[in-house]
Amino acid sequence: MSIIYDRVALIGLGLIAGSMSLAMRRAGLAGRIVGTARSAETREVAREIGLVDEVFETAAEAVKDADLVVLAVPVGAMGSVACEIGPHLKPGATVTDVGSVKRAVIRAVAPHIPKGVHFIPGHPLAGTEHSGPRSGFAELFDNRFCILLPPEDVDAGALADLRALWQGMGANVEEMDPDHHDLVLAVTSHAPHLIAYTMVGVADDLRRVTDKEVIKYSAAGFRDFTRIAASDPTMWRDVFLNNKDATLEILGRFTEELFALQRAIRTGDGDYLFEYFTRTRDIRRGIIEAGQDTEAPDFGRIGKK
Ligand code: NAP
Repeated sequence: MSIIYDRVALIGLGLIAGSMSLAMRRAGLAGRIVGTARSAETREVAREIGLVDEVFETAAEAVKDADLVVLAVPVGAMGSVACEIGPHLKPGATVTDVGSVKRAVIRAVAPHIPKGVHFIPGHPLAGTEHSGPRSGFAELFDNRFCILLPPEDVDAGALADLRALWQGMGANVEEMDPDHHDLVLAVTSHAPHLIAYTMVGVADDLRRVTDKEVIKYSAAGFRDFTRIAASDPTMWRDVFLNNKDATLEILGRFTEELFALQRAIRTGDGDYLFEYFTRTRDIRRGIIEAGQDTEAPDFGRIGKK
């Protein structure tokens, strides 16, 4: 593949930015990749492992002459980072972000983007429970979706380049409206994370009663909640604070469904439970058919060490 951007600046050097750097290198999509992170420690690790070609001390320095700037910091930090880089952006450059919430990020970032710079928000639907500069890997975005949320008056060339970049990094690109994105993600990601956090919290309370049984028998399903509940606390705090309405809407519906299931159990309504679980099983089949998970038993763990 050929170079799409001569110079890319990554602001934040964690899981997503690190994976982008490795995926861009894999496909030769950028002439030079530079970056910066908030802490001296992360900047040092990034230099040590050669995560990018050059690490700068500040975001203002990093974005100088960059053709593409990627904001890859927690959602709550996007506004202050945009404020810092705004005056240093090259005319004609593109700024994008990878934040998990879109409406709030657009509100925080857009006012700091000068005229003549293209702001095209984005969100790769790919991640793990790990974070930091050592957690990235080149394959993270392979066959995953990346949602772009271009403004109505988007520059067609700038959008085409950003699409090509994500496709070059292995992703399938879709476009969405920010409010719709936030609702869809509340269902598919944000509420499930909150439920996992709750379930693990409940088990933690129970552990005091049942000693180590919760851990010993965790393969029965609990283990999968713990993986999700191990996700970065800063990132997820910011997601909930910034996608309040959609998450609360989905949690309201979740509570209603939970009550309905609770009632079916209490009244012994086996038909209700059976029909409900048949419907949910079909959803799982759909996810596998869409290539978004493996059909292997136990999430592919069987047969692996
Ligand atoms: P990460 O591994 O924790 O990295 C975050 C980076 O942001 C670090 O370099 C960190 O610097 C920097 N940072 C943290 N707080 C900051 C602040 N207040 N000001 C400036 N920089 C700050 O996180 P990540 O998983 O890559 O997530 C980055 C973004 O991608 C988030 O907006 C998240 O919502 C989104 N996202 C995450 C996933 C996922 O599954 N992880 C998936 C899709 C999108 P230090 O290391 O120096 O603290």
